[in-house]
Amino acid sequence: MPLTIRINLPKQEVNTFYSFPDFAPPEEHCRGLACYAARSLDPEAWKKAVAQQPPTYCLGKCYAGPSSTLTGGAPHVEVRSRKAIVLRHIVDGPVKSLRDYLARGGMRGLERALSMPQAEVIDEVKRSQLRGRGGAYFPTGLKWESAMRQAAPAKYVIVNGDEGDAGAYVDRFLMEWDPYLVIEGALIAAYAIGAGRVYFYIRREYPGAVAAVRRAVEEVREAGYLSPPLPSELEVHVGRGSYVVGEETAMINAIMGRRPEPTPRPPYPTERGLFGMPTVVNNVETLSSVPWIVENGGDAYAELGFSRSRGTKVLSLSSTFSRPGLYEVEFGVSLREVVYDMGGGVRFGKLKGVMIGGPLASLIPSEELDVKLGVEELRAIGASLGHGNVIAFSDDTSVADMLHEVLLFASFESCGKCFPCRLGTAKLERMFSKGYLTEEEAREAMSIANTMAVASLCGHGQAAGQAVAVTLKKFWKEIVR
Ligand code: SF4
Repeated sequence: MPLTIRINLPKQEVNTFYSFPDFAPPEEHCRGLACYAARSLDPEAWKKAVAQQPPTYCLGKCYAGPSSTLTGGAPHVEVRSRKAIVLRHIVDGPVKSLRDYLARGGMRGLERALSMPQAEVIDEVKRSQLRGRGGAYFPTGLKWESAMRQAAPAKYVIVNGDEGDAGAYVDRFLMEWDPYLVIEGALIAAYAIGAGRVYFYIRREYPGAVAAVRRAVEEVREAGYLSPPLPSELEVHVGRGSYVVGEETAMINAIMGRRPEPTPRPPYPTERGLFGMPTVVNNVETLSSVPWIVENGGDAYAELGFSRSRGTKVLSLSSTFSRPGLYEVEFGVSLREVVYDMGGGVRFGKLKGVMIGGPLASLIPSEELDVKLGVEELRAIGASLGHGNVIAFSDDTSVADMLHEVLLFASFESCGKCFPCRLGTAKLERMFSKGYLTEEEAREAMSIANTMAVASLCGHGQAAGQAVAVTLKKFWKEIVR
């Protein structure tokens, strides 16, 4: 785009691409993909979501889609793993106060951490083989070790509470119902790397989580936890509507007040992150696993799970299942067990496929449900685990239409920094808008998608390209006419 056009943009668009920069609509209808999959359950609600400008992508109520800010209720919560780790408190209901948290055994992990040298805390986390639950699945202990080893006048921990993947709502309920667990995990991380300040970044679509975390921070402060060797400050930042901010370098830019777009790596945030200082960014579920690991030992955690995916994962099952809800499982469970034993199968019609880690993920056809839940195992079939959000699609959805909805989202949320994503998402969205592709168009779409997958700067464009390429290949006969 010529520079003259860019500098003639309104100032707001030059500085930001937040969809909700200065206002919050009084009533919002969710246009996330889980609500799209459930649109036939309430066509009127879906019509409102489609009509709303700007669209709201995911309110974290995917267990009751199609949802709006008026949708109430709470998800079913169940532990299916041998040990309850992340959901261990909220499986019995929300934690009401710090006093309640302590009565349920909270802060024991932090106490143990403080009795150990920093390097030993990191060793415990490394032994657990915990990997980041936000989608990248990078080993958490290695991330902490990298930040700990940097010599710097300041270090930071950022709690990534910008869940945002349609279908996922575990982070929302951890922050709303057990914010003390998240804070305990963040304090352990801060102690381990020597951070003096912790930032929470929470999406604006989760006002209940913002309020609960703010309240919990005040309680923790009043109880005297925020003093050396722990950080002196816990600060809560609220998003303004941008999916890409979930990417850690974009989140760092957002907290610094810069245009919230990703930046190339290296340098990695653990070397040069927030305000140029070593920074660990961990998502809510990752940090919620840490207190149990430090209290019970990394080896005990690593005994759970299978293959290279150790421990537990919370799956968020969407409203298109007969039994939607939050399920803590061990890695290694088959998708068939998830879909039928936990979810009770699809709520209406016949199951066409399941999407995990969407909306920028491929659709797994029902014939592939014997795959086991694991990071590498899902990658091997072209799928991804992401946040563990599981959306069931029944046969009322055409795959080409579903991809069009995904691409509307992907192009709307593209930050525009790199051309494969900026142009590719828009071009593919136009191509899929008519509900099918010709053979020639399908070959062109495949080429664009593959280019996006390898040449986009961040996971947004890469995942969108990969999702289109894999789904097009698997559902070629249905999409191509
Ligand atoms: S891949 Fe998309 S979202 Fe990521 S930097 Fe490029 S344009 Fe921005």
